[in-house]
Amino acid sequence: MSGVFKKQQTLDAPFIGRQMYELIRELYPICRSITGDGVRDTLARVQRHIPLTIHEVPSGTAVFDWTVPKEWNIRDAYVKDSQGKKVIDFQKSNLHVVNYSVPTNKRMPFSELKEHLFTLPDQPDLIPYRTSYYREAWGFCLSQRQLDEMSDGQYEVRIDSELKNGSLTFGELLIRGATENEVLISTHICHPSLCNDNLSGVAVATFLAMTLAACEPRYSYRFLFIPGTIGSITWLSLNEEKVDRIKYGLVLACLGDRGPMSYKRSRQEKSEMDRAALHVLECSAKQHLVRDFSPYGYDERQYCSPGFNLAVGCLSRSSHGQFPQYHTSADDLDFVDSASLEDSFVNCFSILSVLERNLVFINRNPKCEPQLGKRGLYRQLGGYTDAEAREMAMLWVLNQSDGTKSLLDIAERSRLPFDEIWSVAQALMECGLIEESLHAQSLLVQASQELAQLKDDR
Ligand code: ZN
Repeated sequence: MSGVFKKQQTLDAPFIGRQMYELIRELYPICRSITGDGVRDTLARVQRHIPLTIHEVPSGTAVFDWTVPKEWNIRDAYVKDSQGKKVIDFQKSNLHVVNYSVPTNKRMPFSELKEHLFTLPDQPDLIPYRTSYYREAWGFCLSQRQLDEMSDGQYEVRIDSELKNGSLTFGELLIRGATENEVLISTHICHPSLCNDNLSGVAVATFLAMTLAACEPRYSYRFLFIPGTIGSITWLSLNEEKVDRIKYGLVLACLGDRGPMSYKRSRQEKSEMDRAALHVLECSAKQHLVRDFSPYGYDERQYCSPGFNLAVGCLSRSSHGQFPQYHTSADDLDFVDSASLEDSFVNCFSILSVLERNLVFINRNPKCEPQLGKRGLYRQLGGYTDAEAREMAMLWVLNQSDGTKSLLDIAERSRLPFDEIWSVAQALMECGLIEESLHAQSLLVQASQELAQLKDDR
């Protein structure tokens, strides 16, 4: 049979969950940003697990309507009071400095310093995460309680950072499958010490890549570890000729917290990608959320811009901006756990394995029902506890396999789990009752693309 994971892996999901958590623990202390050594260090550590290619795109490179920014690096930062005591210290948390702060070294009264301090009055114990990528500025983030303890007087402000021409760094890995058609897996690597957003995405993507590489998949898988927004814009701009190969994709973000799984539809809304994700979440029989597409969120915004309109959805647990720990120091190592990471990984892998196995078959005995009994397919399946359901699945596959319907179409129409439909299709194929329609298969992938394009042209 063409396609399908050639090598089916027995996944030790709990073990993978624990390894993902360990990777998060290792990456957590690093101060990352959209450029700089924090990203390089992070990618180098991911490289110990998967053979990422590291790309460096020079500052100033024009990428569509944007420009690759200057590179930012930071060594240290603090605010000292008049007694020389550090009242804000970057070494204690890299969230304390507004990401991309320009170098600063001066003394100033509290009234002036105050303009550069950011807190969360409603969450007085937490340090917020702030950035100033595209406007040259400086600032410190601190808890409201820390701020309340500061008094009038002179302060020494030092930010030992560097903002100069360098490059934007990103990681890429192409796992070649049996076909050139690609599934894109994209995750952002630009946040400093925040776990759910998005070391969880980095960890799931890393272990997904490792697992898929061992499976000999049908599709090729392109993994991107990129800074948010500017990274996807840069990749799309520099690789426009490759975009046509991307048939499906997932942006992975916020996958380590204890909230329910959530899937945000692609701009196409009902692409095979969207349908596979929905089917898996529904079959999981666990609480889950499905969100409509909106032009806000993570890098799906770029992949789903009208000039590309890729079938790329976003898989999360608690989503973008929707949890109180979001973009605060409370998004820490306690906020994520290995069981949630494991569940996210399993769901993600299941979605991809539906796409891998979503084949089209033709019934070779289409005139009336074939006699299942004489082929040993009818009520002789002793090992199956639910023989009736299996027979029902067989009847559906035989009835619908006219060369125009995929196994996912059949699973949806019959309201049976894809795995059941897949399993009986294999049994029917082994006894020669159905055969794979390669032509229909390629048309299917093509059609979903053309349909999206057509809708877009209107
Ligand atoms: Zn974020």
